[in-house]
Amino acid sequence: MSLAFLRAYPPVQPPQGSVYWLPFRGDNVLVKTAPTGFELFQSTEEGIPTPLQTTLYLGTLNGRACVTGEVGQDFVLPEGWSEQTQRTLFGRIDDQLQSVIGYATQILRWQRTGRYCPVCAHATESLTGSWGRICPNCGHTMYPPSTPAILALIHDGERMLLTHKPGWGNKRYSCIAGFVEPGESLEECVEREIYEEVGLHVTDIAYIGSQPWPFPHQLMVGYTARYLSGEIHLDGLELDDALWFTPAALPELPPPQSLAHRIITTWIAAQRTS
Ligand SMILES: [Zn+2]
Repeated sequence: MSLAFLRAYPPVQPPQGSVYWLPFRGDNVLVKTAPTGFELFQSTEEGIPTPLQTTLYLGTLNGRACVTGEVGQDFVLPEGWSEQTQRTLFGRIDDQLQSVIGYATQILRWQRTGRYCPVCAHATESLTGSWGRICPNCGHTMYPPSTPAILALIHDGERMLLTHKPGWGNKRYSCIAGFVEPGESLEECVEREIYEEVGLHVTDIAYIGSQPWPFPHQLMVGYTARYLSGEIHLDGLELDDALWFTPAALPELPPPQSLAHRIITTWIAAQRTS
């Protein structure tokens, strides 16, 4: 069954009735161990004895309210519970559920990191109608961070230039990646990152898609870019190899759930139909 998440925004109180519980300890999520993998707790079941320290309503998952919160550090996991990092769950649970867990992680982290004003250090207060915080002392307002970063696949119409980072293992290659700088458009970021990392100029920058990446709060935005000019020159820091590949002879690619994988396979599919 596919899951559909409807975000409750601006934040409101949860509706009455049975809910999905998403308890966290720090950045780790507590889930139910099931024969098929992992499942969410439902409030109608026994085995949810712990009061959450914070309770936040995120929205509905297939029509059922979805509530998150944190358990104490000394909470002992009952039988059948399991504490997981998001990275462990990546690719092992439904994509929509992965995204709800990512949202919950970031909003809970924001409750911890947004408590004090970064300007005057006064305690902040919740800003009505959003997840924002306001400082009653100096008026500074702030919102949960979401940091844009680009992923870019360089191609020449027949081949893709894929890159390798130290520490990836010998066979895996992927797209160029980098954070957007203040004052920069996404397309300018694509051009700059490609030039910085492999020394090439590109053209025909085309948007493919995006993916929230809650490690800790990125928004990955994916592009393809056509090779225009230049010789490959590695920056020597972030990358240790860059090679041209045809769709017929690919290296190991990033995991299927990743945006990088989607960009690569979308580009290959488009070559087959053109
Ligand atoms: Zn302040």
